[in-house]
Amino acid sequence: MRVLYRLKEAGFQAFLVGGCVRDVLLGIQPKDFDVATDAHPEEVRRLFRNCRLIGRRFRLAHVFFGREIIEVATFRAQSAPPPGAEIEDPEDIDDDDGEGDDAPAPLSEAARFQQQAAAAAGHDHSHINDDDDDDDFDRSVDVQGRILRDNVYGTIDDDVWRRDFTANALYYNIADFSIWDYTSGLEDIQARRLRLIGDPETRYREDPVRMLRAARFEAKLGFTLEPGTAAPIATLRDLLADVPPARLFEETLKLFLGGHGARSLAVLRQHGLLGALLPPVAACLERFPGSPIEQLLIRGLENTDARVAADKPVTPGFLFALLLYGPVGLEIEKAPEERWTDLPVIFDAVDAAVRAVQKRVSLPRRFSLGVRDMFALQPRLEVPRGRRALRTLEHPRFRAAFDLLALRADCGMASAETVAWWTALQEAAGPQREQLAEASGNGQGGGGGNAPRGGSGRSSRGRRRRGGRTRSTNPGG
Ligand code: ATP
Ligand code: MG
Repeated sequence: MRVLYRLKEAGFQAFLVGGCVRDVLLGIQPKDFDVATDAHPEEVRRLFRNCRLIGRRFRLAHVFFGREIIEVATFRAQSAPPPGAEIEDPEDIDDDDGEGDDAPAPLSEAARFQQQAAAAAGHDHSHINDDDDDDDFDRSVDVQGRILRDNVYGTIDDDVWRRDFTANALYYNIADFSIWDYTSGLEDIQARRLRLIGDPETRYREDPVRMLRAARFEAKLGFTLEPGTAAPIATLRDLLADVPPARLFEETLKLFLGGHGARSLAVLRQHGLLGALLPPVAACLERFPGSPIEQLLIRGLENTDARVAADKPVTPGFLFALLLYGPVGLEIEKAPEERWTDLPVIFDAVDAAVRAVQKRVSLPRRFSLGVRDMFALQPRLEVPRGRRALRTLEHPRFRAAFDLLALRADCGMASAETVAWWTALQEAAGPQREQLAEASGNGQGGGGGNAPRGGSGRSSRGRRRRGGRTRSTNPGG
């Protein structure tokens, strides 16, 4: 509100826009607040000391209030290219199309995505380019119609058309507390309907991530995609292959760590988008319908949703361990069964699965290392041995690995007694803890290897090949 009033007092227009207006109307607590204004980024910066300009492709002002960031965007010009508009070659972009007011507006809309997604998700701002020394007005698209840059400023009447869905295009005017609705967004919100503004195919081509956003809002809000908005997805979903993997990573987090991950999975599968976003994950689910792998992913996402609802932290590392559980298991099973618990086999399997998924979605290294550790710790957790168990407890990734073990047990892929044993160990105080650990040295605690297998899950068998009982490794049995 302070941001809005300061802008207004300085003689600018100031609106709340996008998700926050939509969410308030739906009785949902907004995640963040976006402000739209006719003030240019430089002017915004002059008004607020606690302000930074970010983004080259889509310049924005971030105004900081303690830990909160208010995103202030200047109105952009319209989205749809006029008939016959030239499509620029990305190589030919230059930054000198003047003040932009009489430019024969080709297109516009968004390539802020990366920055915006990062900012909204609160992750990794390191790739945000915050050079702020030029005030050029420019825009460009690539040969497929994708928007590369969008800094042509306009009025609110222009700005509205570049937004994605009608429900996201409502403006709340601080000057008279009215809602400006150019696209029948209010009606669509009332009908719980998601409708793209403009021609859906064009809008998806401009920015294929809008397909994922459609799925995300369907999952988050329980809206239905209006048929014209849903239909083109089936033919356009592979355009996601051209989206920078870093941006798809941010979108993946928004889909699965936003508190509606289980529904996101269902919606993505229903639209065939999972195969375009995470092909190895989709392939695995298709190959083993109803398998423990599918169960593990769904339950894991449900647990994650519950954690978000309870304001507990969630991590990309754990999410990717869930997503990659099937693909990693398939990789491991390429090795002879007696080697399934060998660390090099597990590491190679995780690396192969990560590489496969990274063709579309980048996974920063700190998270892929976490995934590796979580998988590598599974055999150690399954057969706790003596005092080594105490050291395992100290492992920085113990808690995540233990949660994964518990989930596996829930899905019949690990022993419930082992989980109970580790729970007891964690709860035990000093001396008691040592006793428990020592008792495990002679074979206690490592419950039965009752994992079902047959491609549908990693067996926990073969892990006792050294010490303790050795099981016959009877393939398939
Ligand atoms: P939430 O914050 O709940 O994820 P949101 O609608 O606020 O949802 P943001 O990503 O924060 O989504 O974007 C804010 C607004 O910017 C959107 O409501 C929409 O109007 C516009 N917008 C964001 N991304 C795009 C896009 N890819 N194409 C068109 N408009 C977009
Ligand atoms: Mg938002």
